[in-house]
Amino acid sequence: MSDCIFCKIVSKEIPAKIVFEDEKILAFHDINPEAPTHVIVIPKEHIESISEITEKHQNLLGHIHLCIKQIAHELGLAENGYRIVNNSGKLGGQTVYHLHFHLLGGRQLQWPPG
Ligand code: AMP
Ligand code: ZN
Repeated sequence: MSDCIFCKIVSKEIPAKIVFEDEKILAFHDINPEAPTHVIVIPKEHIESISEITEKHQNLLGHIHLCIKQIAHELGLAENGYRIVNNSGKLGGQTVYHLHFHLLGGRQLQWPPG
């Protein structure tokens, strides 16, 4: 997707503070962090949102979550806990239409979210 900001981060057209990368996924620090640690984890494949996933994405989604667990551990979040968030669609608060998971930690997070 030529006009997708996260695809441009994947292709390194725009910079990001990358914390993890492999052949299928990329993780980088959020440009506008909502917590002391706020990492965005994306598939390199352009998928608009969780609503667009199909059975062919099952392995990819499992892989993303195993990587999030590993990133949380490496960033020192595992002991005290963290949150994984996916916003989907307008009412879900999604602003970037390339599937992504927020990894948030480093402070007490509140519930329910706004
Ligand atoms: P969402 O509102 O769930 O779609 O989340 C999009 C997230 O992407 C927001 O937290 C933004 O701060 C973040 N974001 C947008 N542009 C960039 C960028 N160039 N680099 C890093 N994070 C970004
Ligand atoms: Zn994209």
